[in-house]
Amino acid sequence: MLAATTKSDTRYELVVGMEVHVQLLTRSKMFCRCATDYAGAPPNTRVCPVCLGMPGTLPVINRDAVEATVKTGLALGCEIAETAVFARKNYTYPDLPKGYQISQFELPLCIHGRVDVDLPDGSTSPIRVRRVHLEEDTGRSVHEGGYSYVDLNRAGVPLMEIVTEADIHSAEQAYAFLTGLRSVLRYLGVSSGDMEKGAMRCEPNISVRTPEQKARGEYGAKVEVKNLNSFRAVRSAIEYEMRRQIDVLQSGGAVEQVNMGWDEERQRTVLQRTKESSDDYRYFPEPDLPPLALSRAWVDEIRAELPELPGAKRARYIRDWGLRPTEADALTGESLVACFFEGAVAAYGEEDGKPQRMANWITGELFRLIYADGEGQDLRQIADVRIAPAQLAALLALIDDKTINPNTGKKVLDIMYATGDDPQDIVAREGLAMVSDTSVIDEAVASILAANPAELARYRGGETKLFGFFMGQVMRATQGKADPNAARQRLQELLDEA
Ligand SMILES: [Zn+2]
Repeated sequence: MLAATTKSDTRYELVVGMEVHVQLLTRSKMFCRCATDYAGAPPNTRVCPVCLGMPGTLPVINRDAVEATVKTGLALGCEIAETAVFARKNYTYPDLPKGYQISQFELPLCIHGRVDVDLPDGSTSPIRVRRVHLEEDTGRSVHEGGYSYVDLNRAGVPLMEIVTEADIHSAEQAYAFLTGLRSVLRYLGVSSGDMEKGAMRCEPNISVRTPEQKARGEYGAKVEVKNLNSFRAVRSAIEYEMRRQIDVLQSGGAVEQVNMGWDEERQRTVLQRTKESSDDYRYFPEPDLPPLALSRAWVDEIRAELPELPGAKRARYIRDWGLRPTEADALTGESLVACFFEGAVAAYGEEDGKPQRMANWITGELFRLIYADGEGQDLRQIADVRIAPAQLAALLALIDDKTINPNTGKKVLDIMYATGDDPQDIVAREGLAMVSDTSVIDEAVASILAANPAELARYRGGETKLFGFFMGQVMRATQGKADPNAARQRLQELLDEA
């Protein structure tokens, strides 16, 4: 029933804003000293009177969480508030022991940011960041065997919320924004960004509107989708909702402003509950916490310590090292990969297109080995591979000085990956050095021609594509060690002799 409309429906504009909740990598919780390492811990073992919401307890603000939020705000181009205020967001839910969540409402830590999102087609779209604020996570309800339990280990874990303006107009843009945001969070070291572990949760609010509505500055009713646990699911949910809403409007109906969940199995959104407005939360300033004053000196200190971010790195690789955008993207998504690449270039050299050659080996051969390694497709594993950046540089140097040919290089890399041994040692031990000795190559070429008279006759009869066949035979006869250029040249000479 959804086949009638497609994403290229130009009668409607898709409008998406994004709310992203991010767990911060602090050691202790937001307002108490309980540890945040609750993953795998027995239920209710990371709790104290404060995060259990006992009467008479008082919250104390976690400085590291504020610093992480300011850092993120600066990286997203935000203005940092001089005074931020925590607020009570009131609602009753079994996993919320106080009956309210301490969040921020009118005066968040960071406002008015902007992220430029690069798309695969080479275009760039600016996405404004409305606010970045700090709050606390809730506990978790567990439903088992007809009973409901609550585990409050997660209650009070620092949670940063990033809210964008409704500047996203395609599922692709949403995907690019989220992967780019996660990359920045990991560069900053403020969050693991692991969606499958709940450390990053995305809630797109999705609407469509006609050009007439757009001209009048109006928006369609928006649907917020919850419980998305992968970037792929966010993309699918946006595409699904867009088609569903267009179908509703096309058939004369009205889109209802509701919260939906995502059914991964059926690949569709499902109704959750009608959406609260902010009035329902009865926000008011948290009476147990004074307004938080952020000194400009401290903010400047944090700004000065920001690392080079992925966008800047990508631009530098292209500008200074002549990298192609594809490799520059692949190398800057994860800070650990960029770090490996830069270490390898430092050891290998920056001249004569060397960074691009190194980029090819890392994104081609090394990524292939990491992906084949079973632990999912997580490139952060590059930090654990047994090959040091300088060893990879040494391997490429062996190819450059013709000690080994590029194909043998791949074989050596496989052994390095398994053993961590130096490439020079592997080449010596396995006898892999390239054969450039012309007498050895001459002999191999001559014997291959002699052994394949029928192919030779066909070649000389005009079937020149058989050159590849002969070349393969020669390389095989030398166990792949022949200098390919020397072998190619000699083969050509002997083939053309008749
Ligand atoms: Zn606690």
